[in-house]
Amino acid sequence: MSEKKPLPLIRNASPKTCPVCGHPSYSGNGIHPQCNGTQADKKRREKRAAEARDAAIAPDGGETHADVT
Ligand SMILES: [Zn+2]
Repeated sequence: MSEKKPLPLIRNASPKTCPVCGHPSYSGNGIHPQCNGTQADKKRREKRAAEARDAAIAPDGGETHADVT
């Protein structure tokens, strides 16, 4: 006896995977709003860290040469 399974009411309308957390997301751009915020915050933090690093390494733009006299 073969019985037809009922089709799920909600099918993968948008089989997008959130690039941040890897879970399926049903929002328009395929990324969870909270993950989008997390990603933006991470980018901002990385940028700030890079700026701080650059300032720490070379405040005048040049590499410090070990001049031993
Ligand atoms: Zn997500």
